[in-house]
Amino acid sequence: MTNWLGQRIAKTRVYTFSRGGIHYADPSAPPWDSSVTAFLPVFSIIPLVDHTGSRTEPVVSVGDTVKEGMLVGRAEKSGSANIHASVPGTVVRTISWKMPEGHTNEALVIRLEGAFDKLGRREEVFPWQDSSPVKLRELIAEYGVVTMESSGFPAAELMSSFQSLEQPRTLAVRCVFDDPWLAADYVLCRERLKELAEGSVIAAHAAGAERILFVVSGNGQELGAPFLAEVSAYDIPASMVIVGSRYPQRDRRELEQVLRIYEKKEALELGNLLILGPATLAAIHDAVKLRRPILDRYVAVGGSAVKKPRVMKVRLGSRIGDLFEQCGGFTGEPKRIATGSPILGRTVQDLNEPVIKTTYAVFAHRKGQVGEGRSRNCIGCGECRVVCPMKLDPELLFKAAGPFRPGEENEPLAVQLLLQDAARAGIDSVLASFCHGCCCCDVVCPSRLPLSAVIVNFAKVAGGY
Ligand code: SF4
Ligand code: SF4
Repeated sequence: MTNWLGQRIAKTRVYTFSRGGIHYADPSAPPWDSSVTAFLPVFSIIPLVDHTGSRTEPVVSVGDTVKEGMLVGRAEKSGSANIHASVPGTVVRTISWKMPEGHTNEALVIRLEGAFDKLGRREEVFPWQDSSPVKLRELIAEYGVVTMESSGFPAAELMSSFQSLEQPRTLAVRCVFDDPWLAADYVLCRERLKELAEGSVIAAHAAGAERILFVVSGNGQELGAPFLAEVSAYDIPASMVIVGSRYPQRDRRELEQVLRIYEKKEALELGNLLILGPATLAAIHDAVKLRRPILDRYVAVGGSAVKKPRVMKVRLGSRIGDLFEQCGGFTGEPKRIATGSPILGRTVQDLNEPVIKTTYAVFAHRKGQVGEGRSRNCIGCGECRVVCPMKLDPELLFKAAGPFRPGEENEPLAVQLLLQDAARAGIDSVLASFCHGCCCCDVVCPSRLPLSAVIVNFAKVAGGY
């Protein structure tokens, strides 16, 4: 067995989910060796909501001077997280744009000016060991930490709910690299391992977890022992489990499945699980120990249209277009530019879109997305059934749900007809709702059909009728 760097690693027991999934490789993803620091943006675009929650209230106006790390948007509701200026400067204007999901997003534009308070300076460290879980969560909320590997839920709220669950409670540190576009997480683990280990201990205290479990995929298992060595300095039990590198191993469902198998085999009682990833733990460390908000993050930049893919350490608010330029620019006209992994990515509207807390990858591909320009019909090869981890039949679901287009004027009638069709095919929306949108079926479909999008829409819309 070899890791991402091609080094040989010893054979150990590997826990994997029971069915389906894919081995996803993409030579256009950046190498997993080290990061480069991106240039500071002359103009930073700081959205007033940069995760799935509610908008923050701006506390600065056009013309105001802001310091690096200063609060610029205050969270006022549950699900909302504080927003900070990632650079010092002047707020020169506000902008707004329509998101693909329909809502309008607003942002502050900050022109870089003045001195940095944190960049290049020795930062003060704050002892945290005697702080209560409530105090730790207050700091995590104050500095705007959200779960940075997913849609970005406020971390302190998640921890507060977790602490109210029954014991035992385990913090699972997810270092699972089932997708080459998680390069940024891997490089972050290598470059900031000590801080991540301490961030894990802080997170466990803040969330009331009695133990830490490092969940490391086989292709990154060399990280496990150093994590355990770092955490051994603290008074909390910690262990490590190796899991598979097959996509979607990082998904909560697949991860829980293997952890329950591991728990049984090792006669452990993990109890309730709080799963957090490397970027979130680094942010928790910085919030509590350095009293610093999230100013930058590691981003994997690449794709078949990019000259020199690399992992970059990027200030929040930087333009995506600037990152491609710093990777040598394009080799030709890209057909698709998106954030996230190509399996699950969201197409960006233009190159001015900013990097936000949850941007772990950006890519520009010469080819279009799954389903684009499709002209072929299903050939009945059955590949989609083989890879579906939920034991669904994507071919059948797609054929039943395919004619429906959400938002049409005759939507209620269309849904009724669709449900009748689906019932004839022996499918109901409850079955389709078990689809967790992993997109494995899309990746393997030789006809390039947009299976998951149609199935997820079907489940969502039909469920409401
Ligand atoms: S997207 Fe849904 S139907 Fe397709 S493989 Fe994943 S779970 Fe199965
Ligand atoms: S993978 Fe595509 S072509 Fe093959 S059975 Fe499924 S939908 Fe049809």
